[in-house]
Amino acid sequence: MARYMGPVCRLCRREGQKLFLKGERCYTGKCSVDRRPYAPGQHGQGRRKLSEYGLQLREKQKAKRIYGVLETQFRNYFAEADRRTGITGENLLVLLEMRLDNVVYRMGLGRSRTEARQVVRHNHVTVNGKKVNIPSYQVKPGDVIAIKDNSKTKDGMKNIVETTASRIIPEWLDVNLDDMEGKIVSVPTREQIDIPVQETLIVELYSK
Ligand code: SF4
Repeated sequence: MARYMGPVCRLCRREGQKLFLKGERCYTGKCSVDRRPYAPGQHGQGRRKLSEYGLQLREKQKAKRIYGVLETQFRNYFAEADRRTGITGENLLVLLEMRLDNVVYRMGLGRSRTEARQVVRHNHVTVNGKKVNIPSYQVKPGDVIAIKDNSKTKDGMKNIVETTASRIIPEWLDVNLDDMEGKIVSVPTREQIDIPVQETLIVELYSK
């Protein structure tokens, strides 16, 4: 599946907040949102009053950008979320959160979701002992996610784990970072998904 390849700090500046797309740089003074806290482009510093549609659109764009998903795939997630029982907006976030690349990121096996995606794509990850290299793969409670034995000793993986060691792991995951593996304990609740998105606005947008 395709993904956005352009400059990512522009995406944060467009949304007017940090989306943490670059890993460690996001926590330093080099963050573009801190240095240039206005939208990119020629009119970025002009005043901006968003319409109702504009607000809904921005929330959708934000969610897509955080999880690194393009429009068609995002629409497919929405259709699936709408089909499931329960609250559509929450279903949507759960589907995004249960992507394998996101879970690898949440486990601390990637400094950013982009890096986690690369870890998956480069065949370093197993699910229940079997190699899986599909970033959008949906994990489920009980699944054991691990870095392959011969990848655990690679400097790249060791560097990642050293950097993410202090990160707080969500309660729905049981992670042993030293062993580079973890288990999905449960489906995350909305309260356990700490992304700054008002999912109800996305539902309103797609329900028009
Ligand atoms: Fe966004 Fe990180 Fe770039 Fe800051 S450094 S603008 S949080 S991607």
